[in-house]
Amino acid sequence: MNITAPPAVTRATFDEVMVPNYAPGGFIPVRGHGARVWDQAGKEYVDFAGGIAVSAVGHTHPEVVAALTAQANKLWHVANVLTNEPAIRLAKKLVDATFADRVFFCNSGAEANEAALKLARKVAYDAFVAAHGKDKLGDFDKTEIIAFDNSFHGRTLFTVTAGGQAKYTEGFGPLPADIRHLPYNDIAAAEQAVSARTCAVIVEPIQGEGGVTPGEPAFLKRLRELCDQHQALLIFDEVQSGAGRTGKLYAYMNLGVTPDVLTSAKGLGGGFPIGAMLTTNAAAKAFGVGAHGSTYGGNPLACAVAEAVLDILLRDGTMAGVATRRKLFVQGFESLNQRFGVFSAIRGDGLLIGCQLAPEFAGKGKELVKCAEEAGLMVLIAGPDVMRFAPSLLIAEPDIAEGMARFALAIEKFIDQVRTSAAAAAKAA
Ligand SMILES: *Cc1c(COP(=O)(O)O)cnc(C)c1O
Repeated sequence: MNITAPPAVTRATFDEVMVPNYAPGGFIPVRGHGARVWDQAGKEYVDFAGGIAVSAVGHTHPEVVAALTAQANKLWHVANVLTNEPAIRLAKKLVDATFADRVFFCNSGAEANEAALKLARKVAYDAFVAAHGKDKLGDFDKTEIIAFDNSFHGRTLFTVTAGGQAKYTEGFGPLPADIRHLPYNDIAAAEQAVSARTCAVIVEPIQGEGGVTPGEPAFLKRLRELCDQHQALLIFDEVQSGAGRTGKLYAYMNLGVTPDVLTSAKGLGGGFPIGAMLTTNAAAKAFGVGAHGSTYGGNPLACAVAEAVLDILLRDGTMAGVATRRKLFVQGFESLNQRFGVFSAIRGDGLLIGCQLAPEFAGKGKELVKCAEEAGLMVLIAGPDVMRFAPSLLIAEPDIAEGMARFALAIEKFIDQVRTSAAAAAKAA
């Protein structure tokens, strides 16, 4: 019998065995409940990050755990050669709660967007073939996809190319063709660009990774009109803005603009991998039998969990609570800012909040994340200049207050650090 305990894995082990595409924080979380997380050493953290807008109802919500364990004891997987009850129930609830008539399930946001972009190409192709027949395909050119600078749509080659950050596609070419980027919130640029050649416009109603930048309602409305005018699909990427984050199930519901395709993931599974593409009957027709698929998409475990999350989101009080909590967060950040002057703007919608670092601290977001970690607080950045917060939609008031107290300590240390190194640099110069 082996009497030595298995070697403990540590953060250092990560650097030895993992592909180095991530730079995770210094601690390894082992347990979470609600808006609190504990690491290997038993240190407790307040979670203002929510796993990047994923843990919509907090960690280990009892109803979600119950749904997962109940399903775990029944059936995990059958693949899409058969359907299953949780998938059909979840699809029905999503259809009932949104503009959509049809749902396609997958496992992530990137896959949901991949499906949406493929669908848009296929819708345009099918329409052309119906009108002109396959003989004329040499004339078919309705393949252009319009996307926006600073957007983020995932990391598959198609979705990363649709994304508007060149650093994420560098070195991965040749890239999928006929994707064009325009400045976000620029109505005139969109009016110039969208044409008969456009098969889709893909846009985040609020840019998340790109800096927590809300789309202006007039801009999004104009995109709707341009898509109607040119028979292009309007795709809303609500992977981050959806699942109750803005105080409505999906952000489009606040805007008076209805997309043809909506992608959801992150918060929809509350931490279990799932993605969904929602669309209309008219567009869904282009995905006939065999046109697209996924082995795990719509698997019973993921769908049972997402159903439990959705039930909580749609329950009285959850969505209304988002506005109340946003107020507490914004008040907290404003009062910290009165003390410290670290932010030049506080923006976002609902519980997707961005605090732009003041010029003195620009580019130093990661340092503040590190200081927060030391103070027992989990926060995010959205680019180097914006602090991002995407906590549980159910985070309790005392957790917010405690997190703000810890954030104050973190900011104090951060400012001290920044000024000390600036002074040292000035002296050396
Ligand atoms: C996170 C994100 C994605 C990608 O989701 P994955 O699950 O990481 O593939 C796509 N779009 C937006 C807006 C996101 O925030």
